[in-house]
Amino acid sequence: HPEVAEVLLSALNDSQRAAVEAVDGPVLVLSGAGTGKTRVLTTRLAHILTSGRARTAGEILAVTFTNKAAREMKDRVAHLTAARSVEGWWLGTFHALAARMLRDHAEKVGLARNFTIIDTDDQIRLMKQLLQAEGIDDKKWPARAVLHAVQRWKDAGKTPDKVGTAEAGDMAGGRAVELYRAYQERLRTLNACDFGDLLLHCLTLFQTDSEVLKSYQTRFKYILVDEYQDTNVAQYLWLRLLAQGHKNICCVGDDDQSIYGWRGAVVDNILRFEQDFPGARVIRLEKNYRSTGNILAAASALIAHNEGRLGKTLWTEVEEGEKVRVRGLWDGDSEARFVGEEIEDLHRRGDPLSEIAILVRTGAQTREFEERFITLGLPYRVVGGPRFYERMEIRDALAYLRLVQSVDDDLAFERIVNTPKRGLGNAALRTLHGAARAGRTSLMRAAMQVLETDELRPQARRALRELMESFARWRLLAQQTSHVELAQVVLDESGYTEMWQNDKSVEAPGRLENLKEFVRGMEDFDSLAGFLEHVSLVMENTAGDNGDMVTVMTLHAAKGLEFDTVFLAGWEEGLFPNQRAMDEHGVKGLEEERRLAYVGLTRARKRAIVSFCANRRMYGSWSAAVPSRFVDELPPAHVEVESEAGLYGAAQPTWGGTGGMAGLADAGPSRYSPGMARARQRQGQGTRFIEGTAEVVDSLPGRWSRGDRVFHRKFGYGTVRATEGERLTIAFDKAGEKKVMAGFVMPPEQ
Ligand code: ATP
Ligand code: MG
Repeated sequence: HPEVAEVLLSALNDSQRAAVEAVDGPVLVLSGAGTGKTRVLTTRLAHILTSGRARTAGEILAVTFTNKAAREMKDRVAHLTAARSVEGWWLGTFHALAARMLRDHAEKVGLARNFTIIDTDDQIRLMKQLLQAEGIDDKKWPARAVLHAVQRWKDAGKTPDKVGTAEAGDMAGGRAVELYRAYQERLRTLNACDFGDLLLHCLTLFQTDSEVLKSYQTRFKYILVDEYQDTNVAQYLWLRLLAQGHKNICCVGDDDQSIYGWRGAVVDNILRFEQDFPGARVIRLEKNYRSTGNILAAASALIAHNEGRLGKTLWTEVEEGEKVRVRGLWDGDSEARFVGEEIEDLHRRGDPLSEIAILVRTGAQTREFEERFITLGLPYRVVGGPRFYERMEIRDALAYLRLVQSVDDDLAFERIVNTPKRGLGNAALRTLHGAARAGRTSLMRAAMQVLETDELRPQARRALRELMESFARWRLLAQQTSHVELAQVVLDESGYTEMWQNDKSVEAPGRLENLKEFVRGMEDFDSLAGFLEHVSLVMENTAGDNGDMVTVMTLHAAKGLEFDTVFLAGWEEGLFPNQRAMDEHGVKGLEEERRLAYVGLTRARKRAIVSFCANRRMYGSWSAAVPSRFVDELPPAHVEVESEAGLYGAAQPTWGGTGGMAGLADAGPSRYSPGMARARQRQGQGTRFIEGTAEVVDSLPGRWSRGDRVFHRKFGYGTVRATEGERLTIAFDKAGEKKVMAGFVMPPEQ
């Protein structure tokens, strides 16, 4: 179809066209956000087909980062080529494609064709058994921590034989590699594998069976890879082996958007590409088709603060457009109100809701927006994760509270009777079910009767008695204290919080944050009953997944997408850049956070609105929030700052520095520059927010430093031991060493 091919190509600029037409040999397209990398890849796929280079789509291997992206690409190529069916296409995520290959050759890696892919719960159970069998204390070396190490090795393409002893360190008493090997053997006897194995087994297969490898190398005449900057070593090796035949591999990516370092992705893969595929063409696209001039300028200036970039310039023909708005607000609640109002405005002016997204750094941040949208009746969807009240840990917490409220809530009972694990497994539950049926009563009432008998084994009986006593105590407590306090006590005493604290998986910290946010959310209600009622109403409000809706999601989930309007919420130090990322990975962590900010800004076509709060309840307690350093890094000429009046004290700006966005602050008394607020804090003037009430403190000392004496409302007097941005490590005279936010301490004489 030569004319079809011509039409496809005419929708591209020259460099894009070159990237599409360079079908033979290795090609790396390296360029910034919105320059049409994904469009190039899609067109390339269509071009290979319509130009007859591949007879069928089965001869092309195309890798996307998410299943959703795969579906979109299938739709678009089908549309472009007027293909009737997408059957037999090798288009999907690394995992999906590897699984498909593995099914066809399972026996070669010791599995049967119908192998199962196990989930995290099963993985943990398995590893626990192994730890037990080896006599390793799983309090000291939790199964999840060991699994985490195993996962990293798999990401690096390493089977147990390839892990060096030094690498394994003293994990599990120096026996981590042994455990890894035992875990793999166990999986094999179960005819199962985990997610990491999909690629790892493929690698083993390719390395041990040259016939199989050869057949794939011959079959896939063309290989296409999107979001290349986020591939890990195992994925890279997999691609390299497959591409060794025809060497027609085209990878597109942007080093500035590499945001999965924590999951083992290595930007080095970009540099390796040119070494491993000599003569590779590197094509750079510089024209951005997505965003307005102001948005692009803001994003480019921000990312320029990172070192060690491959560097690039971007330009756009799209008009300058609106400036990026930066809005300071009092707290999370006002932030949600503000965003809600803005969205209603846009909607009234004719913008579809589907063109609006709210991007947050952590999952716990979605709750306040969700509540606000429900109040306003704005339809929304949460992408990349369940809505707040549908998350596992939130459902668990709700189940505990529902049971405190009503003894007869069997669903809640079943959910938590053995969560955390307390030795009340299936056998015990069967006994309880039997008793409940016989007595025509609920599980919990039946449990009380069963305790009078010897139907349960002593250990189970003890555990059940303890649980029943706890619930009796909590019911009493419910009458004496606030529901917020009650929730905290229940989560602590039940061992539920502790369960997640001991959990070393990557999701655990997020779950703990959600639990804190959950308890915090209860404060908006008068009683437990009122709160539970609210939640059940919210849960019912689950519209289908279609229709015109606002999208709420994390920055990570937003990669590759675009919207007319993007709200970037919670740009505060500690939240974004995220403190944990910086604590764990130092400068590298900070740079990855900055790339996330770049990804966020570049999702916007017409409008980007950044917001931050002066007060944020993080990790369960109020703290004075400082605007993110990323706000300071935005170029003043392309940004418009507006804050709620008096946000940082009523005083007129007095600081006239040139850095940050100070210039903008002079625009008027109600305009207030976060850069200035930070500077004021450094200089020793400013407002500290202590336990939710603003107190203007006239002469604060500048930055705290080691050795300073300080006073803290809760912990008393102490001496600063270390400082790290807004976080101080203080040795308190009475309370011992603690980490606190600078906003919470004051000079001792006050
Ligand atoms: P990201 O880095 O965010 O993944 P990308 O480089 O993959 O971005 P695309 O999503 O492919 O960029 O393209 C961005 C937008 O620009 C899309 O809406 C796309 O349709 C449009 N676009 C790309 N190239 C052109 C072109 N030559 N003419 C008109 N529009 C284009
Ligand atoms: Mg893309």
